[in-house]
Amino acid sequence: IDALIAEYLDSYEVAPELLPDGDRHASLRDAAAIEVGLRSFLEAGGFGAFTDSFEDLGGLKQLPGLAVQRLMAQGYGFGAEGDWKTAILVRVANVMGAGLPGGASLMEDYTYDLVPGNERILGAHMLEVSPSLTTRKPRLEIHPLGIGGKGDPVRLVFTADPGPALVVSLSDVRDRFRLVANVVENIDPPDLPKLPVGRAVWRPAPDFATSAACWLAAGAAHHTVMTTAVGLEVFRDFAEIAGIELLEIDETTTVRDFARELRWNQAYYRLAQGL
Ligand code: MN
Repeated sequence: IDALIAEYLDSYEVAPELLPDGDRHASLRDAAAIEVGLRSFLEAGGFGAFTDSFEDLGGLKQLPGLAVQRLMAQGYGFGAEGDWKTAILVRVANVMGAGLPGGASLMEDYTYDLVPGNERILGAHMLEVSPSLTTRKPRLEIHPLGIGGKGDPVRLVFTADPGPALVVSLSDVRDRFRLVANVVENIDPPDLPKLPVGRAVWRPAPDFATSAACWLAAGAAHHTVMTTAVGLEVFRDFAEIAGIELLEIDETTTVRDFARELRWNQAYYRLAQGL
């Protein structure tokens, strides 16, 4: 725990109340203990990805925020609320992006800025967004969390770097799985003083309305992996290797063509399973 605290002080801009002489330093030590515990558990089991649920935290004193953020940045997969599918996606994206600039993280569509012609998507989670999405120094802060009934959780606060990114969801369509990928552009966010968590703000290709219509038609999820390290081509290879359908939403996508591809793919995957 002492070693981790030293690493935190070195790596992040730490809020004064969390510093060793601050009145909330004990909460930072609790967060470090959670990180030590989770990492030991993952190493002992040989696990590459994990989930938790804010509603079922057992003896943990706070929702694992900092620990989960750091473990994702170190290559582990994570999905919140028991979402093992997204945990796998984050792990897969981390493995495929190993050694490349950028990173991979759990992401969730949080809210939409529906200014006509200037629509933006704000992605975040309760806490669990990987700092591998930024090259800037994250701030380490503590704030209350209204759900879960635990202590105030410690978390890294930052915004994903502007630049190209990909959000990918994995859906269970009963007899098989489906990947849906949307090419997006992370942009500089407006001031978000009341959202002290890791987050990203982006514009989806080809435009908000087309992206949303296709995303919904495909039954894609609100949890995704966001990767800034690998693009569509790499996910195409993954889908091919894994034998999973991949629907792409990019600059060339139209709702009409996308709907037709969905229908054709439904027929193809039924036939392919029977042969
Ligand atoms: Mn969620």
